[in-house]
Amino acid sequence: MKHTDLYIDGQWRDGAEGQRFDVVNPATEEVIASVASAEIADADAALDAAEKAMLDWAARSPRARSEVLRKAWELMTGRLEEFAHLITLENGKAKADAMGEATYAAEFFRWFAEEAVRADGMITRAPASGARIMVHHKPAGLAVLVTPWNYPAAMGTRKIAPALAAGCAVIIKPASETPLTMLALMPLLEEAGVPAGLVNVLPSRRSGALVDHIMHDPRVRVVSFTGSTSVGRTLLKGAADQVLKPAMELGGNAPVVVLEDADMGTAIEGTMLAKMRNLGEACTAANRIYVHETLAEDFTRRLSAEMSALKVGDGTDPSVNVGPLVNASTRDKVAAFVADAVAKGARVECGGVAPGGKGFYYPPTVLSNVPETADCVNDEIFGPVAAIQTFSDEEDVIRRANATEYGLVAYVFSEDFKRALQICERLDYGMVGLNRGLVSDPAAPFGGVKQSGLGREGGHEGMLEFMETQYISASW
Ligand code: NAD
Repeated sequence: MKHTDLYIDGQWRDGAEGQRFDVVNPATEEVIASVASAEIADADAALDAAEKAMLDWAARSPRARSEVLRKAWELMTGRLEEFAHLITLENGKAKADAMGEATYAAEFFRWFAEEAVRADGMITRAPASGARIMVHHKPAGLAVLVTPWNYPAAMGTRKIAPALAAGCAVIIKPASETPLTMLALMPLLEEAGVPAGLVNVLPSRRSGALVDHIMHDPRVRVVSFTGSTSVGRTLLKGAADQVLKPAMELGGNAPVVVLEDADMGTAIEGTMLAKMRNLGEACTAANRIYVHETLAEDFTRRLSAEMSALKVGDGTDPSVNVGPLVNASTRDKVAAFVADAVAKGARVECGGVAPGGKGFYYPPTVLSNVPETADCVNDEIFGPVAAIQTFSDEEDVIRRANATEYGLVAYVFSEDFKRALQICERLDYGMVGLNRGLVSDPAAPFGGVKQSGLGREGGHEGMLEFMETQYISASW
């Protein structure tokens, strides 16, 4: 499955300047591939191919587009193991996490095959003039998609599938740490019937210049980005020049609120999932865990026991629960968060020491008594560290949970549904998990408020990010 060249107009090509860059296995620190690096001339070739392919694709019936997406889901579902293996090799995540991602990634093709035929319109009579107000949605135009390394498959398919359903052609720039999975998807899309030029993949060492160039081409109308808030801001500024439609899935700082009436088993299970899915390398990862003071001791003990029981190792070993982090700088950042919290008074309940040797490993770690001033309370940890704080007052915990510029996802655990729903509504987050540690679902609108982003992926909203609304005022 290993493709290492650029994918433009349905063909594998070397980059215009012949440059390449290495992809490293985080478990062994060995180079596993040398990948072609796209330059400006490659971007221009991809733009030309996309423009040509979109003419025909946008004119096809929604049903015809739907069938291709459905076929992509079928094909990918038959190859989950292969995709999962590749994801583990380039990203490091454990096999179970990689299988979860591959399944989730494939599901976007099925969901948007179903949505492709549901681009609803509307016809009403204008109240005053009596003219007909006809509203329909058109494909927005070429889209540039930029994705992160933490979900090499799913963050791509979550954009490609709705774009194709809407009738758009795309150029995708995968993260430089993990370009192989997206490249491996291309033969599958070809087999599903995606025409040449409709989906182009441009890994690059010069992401900034490349994406900026594509965003300034007048044929491009959408920029859809998943990644850090700081890069998102840069892209938003660039998008302003051509007033592109932006879809931004940015960083998070998810609070978990465990109320005094929570079911302990549910709260532990949900917190483990919210914290350890993808070994904490997720924008949705539990970052701040607020436990009511009456439960704190029991909760901390049980969470530490669960975390300590996880097996750390090379993610290709199916008995491993926690693989290595993606690279040395991510591991070192996690270690620095722990050191900072401890220096400020936090207690290490388990983990907390990176092993030596090969691989970017960091053990599942629980910190209690974490002070508000700790860096890990204010920044994304992006690793397997659970930072526990306590609270006694509901108003106080809502205020603390909302005290961040992020607003992606929050989690609430309580057996009192009325009270819990009241709290959910007061949390300034695009998504809330109530007695659940997992909110991601292709059928739901995924996205954040505040500096966690703009727009939604998945659900009914996801396809509209790639469409423009047109209104025709008609008389007859
Ligand atoms: P990143 O912002 O560093 O990189 C994301 C992508 O942008 C990569 O493809 C990278 O090569 C590219 N890039 C970097 N600089 C660029 C520039 N100047 N112009 C254009 N492209 C550029 O993020 P990352 O480290 O790959 O991923 C981790 C971040 O992603 C975290 O902050 C996480 O919260 C966020 N994330 C958000 C979601 C979400 O749905 N909200 C999902 C996954 C990850």
